[in-house]
Amino acid sequence: MPRVVLKSVPPGLPSQLDVDPNPRLGGEAAVYFSTDGKFAVKIYRGMPTQREEALLQIMHLFQSLPPDQETFILRPLALVESIDNRSCVGFVMKRAPESFRELAEFVKNPILAAKQFTKGRNWADYLKVARSIARSVKVLHYRGCTHSDIHYSNFLANLATGDAVMLELDGVVVPGFLPPNVAGMAGFMAPEILVSGERPNERTDRHSLAVLLMHTLLFRNVMQPLIEYSGNVEDSERLAWGEKALFSEHPKDRRHRPRNLGKPLFSQGCLSYRMLPLKVQHLAERAFIKGLCHPDKRPSAHEWENALACAVDELYQCSRCRQYYPYQHWLPEVRRRRCPFCGEPAAQPPPLILHLYEPKGKGGFFEASDRFVVLGHRFKVFGDVLDPARPVPPPSRRKEPVIARVIWDMSEGRWRIVNDSLELISCIGDGAIQRARQGESVVVAPGYQVQFGPESRLALVKE
Ligand SMILES: [Zn+2]
Repeated sequence: MPRVVLKSVPPGLPSQLDVDPNPRLGGEAAVYFSTDGKFAVKIYRGMPTQREEALLQIMHLFQSLPPDQETFILRPLALVESIDNRSCVGFVMKRAPESFRELAEFVKNPILAAKQFTKGRNWADYLKVARSIARSVKVLHYRGCTHSDIHYSNFLANLATGDAVMLELDGVVVPGFLPPNVAGMAGFMAPEILVSGERPNERTDRHSLAVLLMHTLLFRNVMQPLIEYSGNVEDSERLAWGEKALFSEHPKDRRHRPRNLGKPLFSQGCLSYRMLPLKVQHLAERAFIKGLCHPDKRPSAHEWENALACAVDELYQCSRCRQYYPYQHWLPEVRRRRCPFCGEPAAQPPPLILHLYEPKGKGGFFEASDRFVVLGHRFKVFGDVLDPARPVPPPSRRKEPVIARVIWDMSEGRWRIVNDSLELISCIGDGAIQRARQGESVVVAPGYQVQFGPESRLALVKE
């Protein structure tokens, strides 16, 4: 069993580790796993001593990572002195739990995703993973770092929990301090890297992040070229992802548009970004249309995290294939609101749609937000949805109090909101005010305003 000896070991870490003799081999390094299953050790090929200096800086940058962030960013913990008495350059980091797999195994193509669906996973799990990815990139960018190699093999994911773990932190770039080691992976690289030799930076990361998030949600590369740009294969590739880069769903240029776009995925279709909630669609448009040639327009990781977090409130379940998808309340024609996976029209009656308004100032005024909540029969309204101090839903609502429930009153053919809290719910609509104490309900219809308490967000019934 090879033995790894560590340098200047911080508290809580053993000074030596026994590792499995069969490492995972990569282009620039080999990754060994400790026999106790807790650590991974990355050993670079040759003796790139300049790497040690960079690793020390990265360790310094991330040493104050809060414990919750340590679960999704595997930072270098200590440098390696030797492996089997042979000097080497490398570092040790925590190992992600066994339940995590390379993200590519789930998102590389629709067949891999469909395999997960047959195992009981669903699209809502993918949405959570996308949110986790955006969160980890946000943490990196907040610290002034660039990942420089964002793609689906540099993240691990656990679909059952919706968690993602970022890998390859040793390659981070800090402008002026840590230069890039790689330019990125083909298909994920920002076009300016190929066109003008731009060095990886936060803006190029933003492009790669947008491509990765769409890959996680749509199971395809939304920048995939579909035509040749030169008789020479290499030139054609370079042009197609660089100078001629084009969003597959560009509204005016259809050269890269997949033939089966928008057809149900389970009928050999191809998911469109237009299946995503409006807020996420707008970010995709900024990333791939306006921001493609204007990197400053690309959405930040924080904006993605926020929009993906809120998307959970717009999910609806297909009555046929049982898949979850964002209910397309923004489409005026109800008959066009269909499951993007099997094509089934949304079940009748259509769900209740609430538009959230934020309190503004102390005069009882409210301002429209870009948040919508889709509520079917027996759906719960959670505390965070109504709390103005909480900008986005928590990653899990297991401990979240239930403020109200929505029920379809079959006898009257109307939606009702049942109060499950101690606060009085009041509802204004059609020239009347209804009030509901705990256990009582109010009838709602389009245009009605629902107030769930004196300090809470206001909900306007959209439909
Ligand atoms: Zn369906």
